Amino acid sequence: MGSSLVASCFCGAVQFSLAAEPMFIHACHCRDCQVQVGGPFAINGIIEAEHVVQTKGPKPKRFTMPTESGRPHDIYRCPTCATALWSDYGRRKVMLFVRMTMLKDARRFSPDVHIFTKSKLPCDELAMLANGASARAGATNENDATSRGALPRGRAAKNKPKDAPRGHTTVKGATTKKPAGVFSVYYDMKKEWPAASLKRRAACLKTPPSP
Ligand SMILES: [Zn+2]
Ligand SMILES: [Zn+2]
Repeated sequence: MGSSLVASCFCGAVQFSLAAEPMFIHACHCRDCQVQVGGPFAINGIIEAEHVVQTKGPKPKRFTMPTESGRPHDIYRCPTCATALWSDYGRRKVMLFVRMTMLKDARRFSPDVHIFTKSKLPCDELAMLANGASARAGATNENDATSRGALPRGRAAKNKPKDAPRGHTTVKGATTKKPAGVFSVYYDMKKEWPAASLKRRAACLKTPPSP
């Protein structure tokens, strides 16, 4: 894989690379993410743990965050500078949510979906517009969504470009596969994920975690 998949924490002690492109990319606008990252949303690339290859530095330190669902949310951080590297939701150990902002070539990646936009901050409108985001109907089939109660339908992003072509380029160097979906809570994976990614996810969740 190319050097665009190389990442480093802020101090450079921890370096890693992704051995594959992420299966899918979330921009999560939930309140937990806003507080934890200190920004309007977190950008998480969902990828098999075995494809996250640490190339330098000490073992990342685990911090366990409480969640509404009760399943642990482990954030792994550089032990020196405490930059968040990735999350393991539900302590599954085989699938990670990598902070895509850490990648050297972070501009290459944009979210496939925006989730929990019911709690998005007013300054988010611009970011979602630049991403060509378009509202789509949500779903109830993921634990994260059901644990949070009501599931209103995806709300239309204001001023969204009506006829944004698929694979349109938004900012220099950043190409989206198709306009990102906007969901007030969560979405239907079968509708949004590419078939190849669904396959990878199913295989990944069957893998026994490495010790
Ligand atoms: Zn560091
Ligand atoms: Zn979140």
